[in-house]
Amino acid sequence: MFKPTLMSARRRALKSSVAVGLSFATAAIATSLFASTSVHAQSYPTKPITLVVGFAAGGPTDIVARALAQSMTKTLGQAVAVDNKPGAGATIAGNLVAKAKPDGYTLFIHHNGMATAPALYRKLPFNPLTDYEYIGQAVDVPMTLIGRQDLPVKNFEELVAWIKANKAKVNLANAGLGAVSHLCGTLFQQTLATDLTTVPFNGTAPALTAWMGGHVDVLCDQTTQTIPHINAGKVKLFGVTTKSRIGALPNTPSLHEQGLKDFEVVVWHGVYAPKGTPKPVVDTLTAALQTALKDPEVVKRMKDLGAEITPVSKQTPDGLRTHLSAEIDKWGKVIRAAGQYAD
Ligand code: ASP
Repeated sequence: MFKPTLMSARRRALKSSVAVGLSFATAAIATSLFASTSVHAQSYPTKPITLVVGFAAGGPTDIVARALAQSMTKTLGQAVAVDNKPGAGATIAGNLVAKAKPDGYTLFIHHNGMATAPALYRKLPFNPLTDYEYIGQAVDVPMTLIGRQDLPVKNFEELVAWIKANKAKVNLANAGLGAVSHLCGTLFQQTLATDLTTVPFNGTAPALTAWMGGHVDVLCDQTTQTIPHINAGKVKLFGVTTKSRIGALPNTPSLHEQGLKDFEVVVWHGVYAPKGTPKPVVDTLTAALQTALKDPEVVKRMKDLGAEITPVSKQTPDGLRTHLSAEIDKWGKVIRAAGQYAD
């Protein structure tokens, strides 16, 4: 289980200072530390906050980030600006935030990829369990399996037959190694025991553009991005990746229901700050995140896009930390067993 080393060092320091008695100097340092922390808490934030997204603008992670950022801006009284730093399955962005000044002005939003990166990237330049403060978990999003509109198939059964007949001639897009579209696509290929040609992009927004142009055949992607295209009749929809159907697409069967037994991928999101961000700042951010997750505009937008607000008990630093640790264990075993690495 995750135990911050900083915390144990602090506890040891506290024990020994109690043993020798509080000297004047120690008391003075403690007083000034306390004073600077509370001043920080009272004045934060005094300038715009950057929320870094590891994928291209207009994609599903970006859509969730912008909805939260807009609401957090109202609560915090300072702009929360989304900054897209795509590449390498969001690990470039993760590293940038891990090394940023821990002052509450640079945050990171990421999905399941935070848990798969340590196993997938053996030279990962940051550690999701020790390099961040956790703000809270946010939104859960189902995925959809979609195809280009002119695919020569009418339904999922025909899609499977067409894929089995065409194998590597079929192009399957994803948003980079470690993206959830990559995980979903890998699981899909494993379940069908077929190798397709995977085409990585810097996010599923550019993947969708290529795919609209007919360069990509199939894509597994979050409903937050696909529902508008589905409703506009621009894509072929083959199923949802949750075990049961979802409210936003009640007539669409799940892949599990259509024969891919136990197939399930749900995307969860967390908000992170660099390690060492003062606790009062973390508390302010957690409160602003929780307010955003109750904001009727955010709730409606997420619901319309098939997403669900994470249960309140998980919208906390502990909730996110516990979930992330469990997911790292789970995916670490799966990825190491599969021997799939990004480097
Ligand atoms: N949907 C992407 C993924 O597969 C990320 C994105 O573009 O937001 O991880």
